[in-house]
Amino acid sequence: MGYIYIAHNAHMQKGEKMSQGLKNRVWIYSQTNLPTRFGQFKVIVFRNDFDDKEHLAIVKGNIGDGKNIPVRMHSECLTSEVLGSLKCDCREQLETALQYIAEKGRGIVLYLRQEGRGIGLGNKIRAYSLQEAGYDTVEANHILGFPDDLRQYDVAAAMLHHLGISSVKLLTNNPKKIQGVEEFGIEVVERVPIQINHNPVNKFYLMTKAKKSGHMLEFEEKYPQLRLLKKVSN
Ligand SMILES: [Zn+2]
Repeated sequence: MGYIYIAHNAHMQKGEKMSQGLKNRVWIYSQTNLPTRFGQFKVIVFRNDFDDKEHLAIVKGNIGDGKNIPVRMHSECLTSEVLGSLKCDCREQLETALQYIAEKGRGIVLYLRQEGRGIGLGNKIRAYSLQEAGYDTVEANHILGFPDDLRQYDVAAAMLHHLGISSVKLLTNNPKKIQGVEEFGIEVVERVPIQINHNPVNKFYLMTKAKKSGHMLEFEEKYPQLRLLKKVSN
């Protein structure tokens, strides 16, 4: 199993929602080079006047022409990325994206501070508690009064515009993200799936994402340890 490239249709309304006003509400606050386990990256911290969060662009290599840039829009997940929780696959997706972009020699991971699909850490933990009582992730969010997914991609698109990006190869299984950035004038020329092998803990969560949220995932009846997938082709 490896990365499969699927051409995405190119019918879009370019930049209709990316007004200059939106771009001006997002700005670069600081940046530095950062050596990581996945190689050398530049980390750029953005601030904005929408949500008072500091979102990051983790940039590899020369993105000068801004075209066909591999991009992952990744939402923060403390439980998985810091604590090693097995309830979701966020850490594996982040690491796979960083590794993929490092191998490609250029690309961007936007690290968006949208914990728990935008409902925040406290409410994510409340949702987990409801899941212990037998509800799935979508049902739990509804019980708490939230829609399945509160993530917004306008700030992400504005960040890409600031970095001079006009078209991307989007690393995602989530069709909403493709629509999300295209609405703001970033052309998605390709979707690069991120397939993470599930474990016995997160299998139900991942199947719910596929069934109820339209994520494009494959399931095989095997339980390997979580690991990064190697790419098999360009
Ligand atoms: Zn997660």
